[in-house]
Amino acid sequence: MNSLIISRDQFLELEKIATGAFSPLKGFMNEKEFNSVVERMRLPSGEVFPLPVLMDVDKNIVQNIKKYNEIELFFNNEHVGKLKPNDYFSCDRHYIAKKIFGTDDPKHPGVDYFYKLKPVFVGGEVQLLKNPKFGLSSKELKPVDTVRLFKNQGWKTIVGFQTRNIPHRAHEYLQRVALEHVDGLFIQPLVGKKKVGDFTPEAIFNSYDALIKNFFPKNRVLLGFLSTVMRYAGPREAVFHAIIRKNYGCTHFIVGRDHAGVDDWYGTYDAHELTRKFDGELGIEIMRLKGPFFCKKCNTMATENTCSHVKSDFIQQISGTNLRKIISQGKVPNTNIIRKEVLDSLINIKCFIE
Ligand SMILES: [Zn+2]
Repeated sequence: MNSLIISRDQFLELEKIATGAFSPLKGFMNEKEFNSVVERMRLPSGEVFPLPVLMDVDKNIVQNIKKYNEIELFFNNEHVGKLKPNDYFSCDRHYIAKKIFGTDDPKHPGVDYFYKLKPVFVGGEVQLLKNPKFGLSSKELKPVDTVRLFKNQGWKTIVGFQTRNIPHRAHEYLQRVALEHVDGLFIQPLVGKKKVGDFTPEAIFNSYDALIKNFFPKNRVLLGFLSTVMRYAGPREAVFHAIIRKNYGCTHFIVGRDHAGVDDWYGTYDAHELTRKFDGELGIEIMRLKGPFFCKKCNTMATENTCSHVKSDFIQQISGTNLRKIISQGKVPNTNIIRKEVLDSLINIKCFIE
């Protein structure tokens, strides 16, 4: 049989490759590309690309499809794409995990996900025949859409903002700082597979919609989802997220505190350091922003660059992790942490992935 049933995650990867969101990739990685990306954070061509994009299959499937030059891809009985296989390979997963995630500990959610991939990877170019349609797919924009929308708005400089949280005041501060420098802000929450306890796509959409409608000037902000797996690869994923936003037409990208990190696996500003290594090569300018926090003495949002009370009791740290904790315990966080309008938008909807 020259057909292969793919998972939802694989369908989304296929779509991202085909629509150019993962450009310059044209297909799932073969072994040469995979090793080059793992070892050098570059494709064999030399272009920066920090994370593998893989099509994983079972061994018995390989026997079935190996003799074909083209495989038909199916999702939920629908013919959604094609793959021209050019390589079948596997790898030492502990070694690779250490390289990509800095650890081979399966307690790390990205490592755990990587270990659970099927044993063989199929490389090859792909073609998309049908667009994925999941819950909030209508809120998703393709690179061709955003490039057109930015042009229609007359925006020449656009900053991309990655998030997997509802907006708290620290996010908003970063967005406002960026908006002082560029024409438009593209908020693109990542809504692919995430872990238990993360915010649901509905919560993220409602809360951002409330923030934008109530506080940001008209025609300066665009909201559109990015449905792809969260890899929790910290610094490497920051570079990946920047490349994706370049592909969506952004000229700038915000990398804040512990970008794409999880628990304490990465240093607060490791992602700043790694993105700095590729300055001038990514085709997008990285805005490396610190903090911020709420300072009760300054009575405003601030950072270590703008406030002298950093090591005092005046400082109120704001993080998605804290916010999740407060909300999931049914408490109401104060308005220095999150706006009332944003919280109100979450009434009566399921906020967390179970
Ligand atoms: Zn202060």
